[in-house]
Amino acid sequence: MPRYEYRCRACGATFERSRPMAEAADPARCPQGHDDTVKLLSTVSVGGRAGSAGPDPRGGGGGCCGGACGCR
Ligand SMILES: [Zn+2]
Repeated sequence: MPRYEYRCRACGATFERSRPMAEAADPARCPQGHDDTVKLLSTVSVGGRAGSAGPDPRGGGGGCCGGACGCR
């Protein structure tokens, strides 16, 4: 099941939820109970490597982003 990261605009907390792709856009309640959250995109460790243009498909399993963007 893909994992999505969300950020709460009420308290600033970030948290992850594993949920079916069909529910990725559904509201996610933060651990503090706030409903004002936004889904973060492409938060999986891409980048940070100098001279590397874009995701490296050889870098690991699960597609270009580890499945976070649904590219599988
Ligand atoms: Zn919150």
